[in-house]
Formats: sequence, structure tokens, C-alpha cells
Amino acid sequence: MSSDSTVTDVDVAVIGVGTMGSMALWRLSRRPGLRVLGIEQYGPAHTHGSFSGESRLYRAAAKEGQLYIPALLEARRLWQELEAESGRSILLPVGALSVGPAGHQDLESTLRSIRAYDLPHRLLDADGLRAEFPQFAVRAEDIGILDELGGGLRPEVAVMTATEQAVAAGAEVRYHTEVLSLAEDADGVTVTTSAGTVRAARVVVTAGSWTTRVLPELHSLLHVEAYALTWFMPRHIDRFTPDRLPVFMRDLDGVHAFGAPSLDGYSIKMCPKIDWDPIDHPSQLPARITPEQLAWAGEQAQRMMPDLVPDPVRWSIHHDSVTPDHVPVIDRVGTGRIVVAAGMSGNGFKFAPAYGAVLADLATEGASPWQHPMFTLAGHLDRAGAAV
Ligand SMILES: Cc1cc2nc3c(=O)[nH]c(=O)nc-3n(C[C@H](O)[C@H](O)[C@H](O)COP(=O)(O)OP(=O)(O)OC[C@H]3O[C@@H](n4cnc5c(N)ncnc54)[C@H](O)[C@@H]3O)c2cc1C
Repeated sequence: MSSDSTVTDVDVAVIGVGTMGSMALWRLSRRPGLRVLGIEQYGPAHTHGSFSGESRLYRAAAKEGQLYIPALLEARRLWQELEAESGRSILLPVGALSVGPAGHQDLESTLRSIRAYDLPHRLLDADGLRAEFPQFAVRAEDIGILDELGGGLRPEVAVMTATEQAVAAGAEVRYHTEVLSLAEDADGVTVTTSAGTVRAARVVVTAGSWTTRVLPELHSLLHVEAYALTWFMPRHIDRFTPDRLPVFMRDLDGVHAFGAPSLDGYSIKMCPKIDWDPIDHPSQLPARITPEQLAWAGEQAQRMMPDLVPDPVRWSIHHDSVTPDHVPVIDRVGTGRIVVAAGMSGNGFKFAPAYGAVLADLATEGASPWQHPMFTLAGHLDRAGAAV
């Protein structure tokens, strides 16, 4: 407890109220008697974080490996709980369709996940795909896997809703306040911000691509990558609405694309993956997608979905913090008063409420049943050592 009246005392300070921070706040706010404060450098549901861009894919059948499935199923339960609490629609139950050549490694790992957890799904051959999903150009060797628990998340709505629910339950949030540094001592953590000092018994760092600014010791594990989103207009929008088209992933001739049905009534998100070099910080993001990159994306989009006009009607550039093996870091650092979730590696949104629950557990109890050993700093350092 601080004796200085200009210092705010809290039990848990959450640094960064974006994806993971809003969910950590929401889960912490469910613990009676806890004084919880979120600190965010921008405003509510802003456009600068890793969560903006209208939609995110939720898949229960993880192509990334079976280790993620318990957390994905727990996240789905919590997404639905957040919807029920708030009355808002966040997870659109449209399914998640993967289309690619039979034997493709992502399709094989998706099938392994489905079998291991007996997840509801449908398997389509090329004829079945053409009949049911005529939006796609389908080759004879293609198959489709429809993950029936999958769907589309509304990220801005989710972040705002989780934060509002936390505030309604007693949490406080300070917007437009940047955390400049953290200093840990025997009794707690001093959080120095652009608008005063906070003393916290525990700190949760959910600063996404900015993590190493407050935790420079994680520099060797985290870098930042740029991600492009592109939207194209179909000639027949009625074939691309959420009742006709699931969220999807398409692999064709070595090009990976993902997308979502029309949410604006005139275009669909369709994103052939554009590659950029890694960067250290969001301030180094490319300022634009070049005309050549846009032309390439349009060509791929139309090759995969012939009804699309190849000139994008909308595009944007985003970022995420990334680890070398794309496994997130979720652990306690230092003496354990500081907890971090970072390195979501372009894949974290679907997990967010489950990881928020892990953070709340780690901050209040020091351990969580949902924390996989691969997510720990020790696990990361072991793998990095093994890779050298
Ligand atoms: C284009 C794109 C598409 C994606 N598609 C998918 C998908 O389909 N499915 C999926 O599951 N995942 C997807 N992801 C990944 C997912 O969106 C991210 O992994 C996730 O949003 C990362 O959350 P985060 O909390 O780490 O970061 P953020 O959501 O960016 O939150 C970090 C917050 O911390 C704040 N902050 C940082 N530093 C400070 C500071 N010093 N003081 C105060 N505040 C601070 C920031 O302003 C921000 O609000 C995608 C990512 C991108 C970029």
C-alpha cells in the first residue's frame, strides 16, 4: 500500500486493454473483492492494435496441433458466455471451411485434431464442394473440411464488450494512458504511466506488439510481423452472405488465403497471404500495400473465387507479436508478480477469453489448469536452445 495520495493502489493492473487485456479484465472482474485497473494507451476498441479489421476466424479443429483444442473449446464456451451476459452477437456460428488438395499438411493436421477430439465436422470431396460451395474454384484433387463448431468472431465488438462487462462488475479502465515502465520490488510493482503512478500487487502485461517496451527481457523471444487484410466485391453478393458461406481457408498452388462472408452487404474479406520481413515495433509497419502486391492478391482471390472482382475495394495493414515457433508466451516473469501473454503469432483471437482466464488464474493464484507447459518461458527457452 502506498502512503502517497497521488499513487493509485490496486490488486491487479492490466497493461494494454486490447484482445487479451480486455478478456483478462473480464475474467479478473469476476473475482469478488479484487481491485482491478486496466491501462490502455489508446481509446476503447481503437484501430491500432492486433484486433482490428472487422472479423476473425474461430476454428475448434486446430490445424496448429491438438494441444490447442482444450483451450479452444473453453474459449468457445466463454465467447458464448460473453454473448449471453451482454446480449451482443460476437461469435457468428457459420462454421469454418478448409479447402485444399487432399494430403495438404494443414488439412491433415485439422483431420487429426477432429479425430482426436471427435469434433463435429463434414468432409466434402470435389463434387460435394462444387455442389455446396460454388463460390470456390475447385480442382479434382481438392477436399473440404467443414468444422461445424467454427465461425466468425467480431473482434472490435468482443474487446469493447469484455471491457464493458468488466467495468460493470467494478473494474476501472484508464484510456489514453501509456505505461512507461514497470519496477518490481518485495511488496509489489510500481507502474509508471504518462499520467501518474500506480502501485499494484500484481501486473498482467497484455501489450501485444508493444510488449518488449515494458518487458525488454522478452526481446529474444518476440518480434513483430505485418499482416494485410483485403476485401473484394463479388458480382453475386447473395452467394457470399453468412447463411451461404462459412469463414474459410483456401490453399492453392502453395498460396494460403483466409476470409469471411460478407458482413457489410457488398464485399467479402478474402486475404491471400502477403509476406513481409519481420520488424521490431508497430511503428515500422509498411505504410501501404504496393500496387504489385494488390494486383497479386486480386489475381489469387479471383483464381480461388472466380466471382470476385480482382481490384480490392478495401485493404488495411495490421501487426501481431510473433514467437519463433508461433507458440504463445503465457507465464509469470521475474519473481512472479508480473504475468504476461504475448506472441500470439497471428492466431490468438479465437483463444482470447480462455487465455484471459489463464492470466486471471496466474495473477491471483500463481497457476492455471489451462496453461500448457509449451507456453511457459522455460518451455520457450528450452525449444530455442534445442533449435540452436
Ligand atoms: C490481420 C490479422 C488477422 C488475424 N486473423 C486472426 C484470425 O482469423 N483468428 C485468430 O484467432 N487470430 C487472428 N489474428 C491474431 C489475433 O488478432 C491476435 O493474435 C490478437 O489480437 C493479439 O492480441 P494482443 O492482446 O496480444 O494484442 P492487442 O489486441 O494489440 O492488444 C495490445 C494492447 O495493448 C495496448 N498497449 C501496448 N503497449 C501499451 C502501453 N505501454 N501502455 C498502455 N497500453 C499499451 C495496445 O494499445 C493494445 O490495445 C489476426 C491478426 C491480424 C493482425
